[in-house]
Amino acid sequence: MKTIKGISVSRGINIGPVYQFHHLDLSFETRQVEDREAEWQRFQDAVKVSKGRLQQMYDRAVKEIGTDEAMIFDAHMMMLEDPDLIDGTMSGIMDEGLNAEAALLAVCEQYCDMLREIEDKYIQARVTDIQDVCNGVIAELLGLGNDAGVRVTEPSVIISRDLTPSDCVSIQKALIEGFCTIEGGTTSHTAILARSLGIPALVGAPDEIEDIPPETIVIIDGYEGVLIIDPDPETIKKYERKREAKLRIIGAALEHAKEPAVTKDGHRVETFVNLGSDSSEDINDAIARGAEGVGLLRTEFIYLNMEKMPDEETQYEKYSNVAKGFGESPVILRTLDIGGDKQLPYLELPYEMNPFLGVRGLRLCLKNPDLFKCQLRAVLRACSHGNLRIMFPMVTKLSEIRRAKELIGECRAELKKEGIEVIPYIHVGIMIEIPGAAIMSDLLAKEVEFFSIGTNDLTQYTLAVDRTNNSLADLANAFDPAVLRLIARVAESAHRYGKTVGVCGELGGDPIAIPILVGLGLDELSMNAPAIPIAKQIIRGLNFEEVKKLAQEVLDLESPADVKAKVFNTLPVIADLS
Ligand code: PEP
Ligand code: MG
Repeated sequence: MKTIKGISVSRGINIGPVYQFHHLDLSFETRQVEDREAEWQRFQDAVKVSKGRLQQMYDRAVKEIGTDEAMIFDAHMMMLEDPDLIDGTMSGIMDEGLNAEAALLAVCEQYCDMLREIEDKYIQARVTDIQDVCNGVIAELLGLGNDAGVRVTEPSVIISRDLTPSDCVSIQKALIEGFCTIEGGTTSHTAILARSLGIPALVGAPDEIEDIPPETIVIIDGYEGVLIIDPDPETIKKYERKREAKLRIIGAALEHAKEPAVTKDGHRVETFVNLGSDSSEDINDAIARGAEGVGLLRTEFIYLNMEKMPDEETQYEKYSNVAKGFGESPVILRTLDIGGDKQLPYLELPYEMNPFLGVRGLRLCLKNPDLFKCQLRAVLRACSHGNLRIMFPMVTKLSEIRRAKELIGECRAELKKEGIEVIPYIHVGIMIEIPGAAIMSDLLAKEVEFFSIGTNDLTQYTLAVDRTNNSLADLANAFDPAVLRLIARVAESAHRYGKTVGVCGELGGDPIAIPILVGLGLDELSMNAPAIPIAKQIIRGLNFEEVKKLAQEVLDLESPADVKAKVFNTLPVIADLS
């Protein structure tokens, strides 16, 4: 028996045999062909078969995972129509007489090299997609198309160096007990897929996982971030009990998911969902899990999923869908938060040495007023379909809020002139995710209706740790008292001026953080949909007066570990719910 540590990117516990996934050996010889026409035809046939497979993967993903996750295969099919890729390969075959594999690989490498030079994580991620698509065609050309992808025949824990989107979808959902990979971060495809499937997943595991013999029984624990290889019967029993207990808790919480979250002494906390799409599946799922509104609509994900900048009409439709879906419940729409690790391929932004400290979020929108106004007009128009509110990300200064509000005014006036009816008033709030804004929150509170604290960025900026750097994962901890003190300050500032304050960073849905956040007086917590039922249950078990005291006490502690220990000591029940 051996225990290996990884970074947990999706909660849950499962026990099962290992399926070692290795990518196919796609090596081939570069040669000159005699019949160039026939070779060109062979290439076109392989592309056609490849597209057919992608279409099957797309259909399967739509059924098993969801439309948004399936979009990646749609994008892959489009890549197979890219004129640069197709014409380049044709020229390799017809002009140079190369075999189709060699001609395609040469174009693919050239393409990827060009993209690699662009220092941009979003574009870097597209390199993997292009390689994935080209490898699919090469596998067809080599007659290996049927072997491509993961072929699991019994419920298994997938172990791999990394998994591509097509690897992931070729897996039958019901047969996957967990993922454990060496590469990939919390935003890798593996992590996204695992969360949407609700199965445990670890990334950043050591190289030795590749040596685990297939069929070896492992326990994957996405709560503790461990993989236990060849566990003894006692350990298996222990984890089976833990798993059953967790499932019972989740099931019980779901039964009460639609009831409000009110503490034992009558203090109400709103529980909202973080959304990144306008799909009806996501909206209905969130409502079924007890979402009382949307605390954060990450609109940039709507932009990221598109090939070109969405126009006002497209945005209007998407925002209206979410507004309608939630009826009278509030939907906090965050304006474009591009920059940092989120880049739009079709928006040419200058290279920055430190993009997280660069032209990001509201800064970018204020520098590009046409882009910003297009979004604001769409939001103002969509307001009539529900209860939309506007929130600006990455706010540093009062002057930025004033300018952004001026632009809302300009859009309102333009729409009126065009004869378009707009509701007379819209709530405007800001994210507090920069330490400077947290420190100055008493002044900022006068200018807005609400605050929502982005603990992901607030942690990275307060502690000077890049949120995407796995090797700093221990330091990047939102339970650090430095971060908690800022949250306390922001809550106090908001309430002093009668404004509401929420948390929409990952901390908001963390069971261990919830007693602290409630105790600090947060009015609203926003989180991923699966986290909502447990969060509500935790709140119902709290005593507001007691957690107010707890929250003040943790502010004086030394480390995140001390903070968590204090929560567990004061409220032992949290250990079962986290
Ligand atoms: C945050 O920073 O906490 C946040 C919610 O925004 P994002 O993760 O999208 O930067
Ligand atoms: Mg943020």
